[in-house]
Amino acid sequence: MARRKKIYEGKAKILYEGPEPGTIVQYFKDDATAFNAEKKDVIDGKGVLNNRLSEFFMNGLTQIGVPTHFIRRLNMREQLVRSCEIVPLEVIVRNYAAGSMSKRLGIAEGTQLPRPIVEYCYKDDALGDPLVTEEHIAAFGWASQQDMDDILSLALRVNDFMSGVMLAVGIRLVDFKIEIGRVYEGDFQRLIIADEISPDSCRLWDIETGQKLDKDVFRRDLGSLTDAYSEVARRLGVLPKSNVSKPTLIN
Ligand code: 5GP
Repeated sequence: MARRKKIYEGKAKILYEGPEPGTIVQYFKDDATAFNAEKKDVIDGKGVLNNRLSEFFMNGLTQIGVPTHFIRRLNMREQLVRSCEIVPLEVIVRNYAAGSMSKRLGIAEGTQLPRPIVEYCYKDDALGDPLVTEEHIAAFGWASQQDMDDILSLALRVNDFMSGVMLAVGIRLVDFKIEIGRVYEGDFQRLIIADEISPDSCRLWDIETGQKLDKDVFRRDLGSLTDAYSEVARRLGVLPKSNVSKPTLIN
């Protein structure tokens, strides 16, 4: 059997060359990291849950006309995605203050923001993904003004979609991070949602109890991360009903 070519290994995923040109296989690992990989663990079943949840969100976005890199899920841990050039920015949308924004600006966690606030961080692990302004982005050529207009519109559409989907199952979308890919179609380039959308990259709070159902459970030692992600998947109908209490997670 031919060994497939590994293109990149990150903290939570591995990318392999896909079966057709222009495709990539995205493998979801069970590894969890936080604080720029200072805190690490292996969480049984996390990769399986994130693969399913990211598929669910990306499919929903496609249905409302937001372009994504997602093609199809291949198995429990892998999905086929479109190859793209990643814009070196983390695009963060916040509806409520939390995390680094609360720390930076001294706003209590959970304070509703007057409107969604979009922030940009420069993707560089060695620098700890620093917050940057549109001035930096333009001056260093990371994205053009047209790209930034498109990125803002994509980010706000993802926010509206994700907020609505979550609200319907009693979960508040506090904030999230997305990554943007650039694809070329003939003489044109298009921006699409890339990477993943999962509880690893969102803050999700139960509306009734305030219980955290996202990666903060790991970052802040608040209990079982698999239980939290399973609860999100169960509410969204992503896990089969028979697996409600204890999902069987196979590789
Ligand atoms: P904060 O800036 O408050 O740490 O994060 C804001 C939001 O973006 C949170 O939902 C957080 O999970 C997500 N986020 C920020 N940076 C990263 C990152 O490097 N990886 C992942 N998976 N999510 C991130």
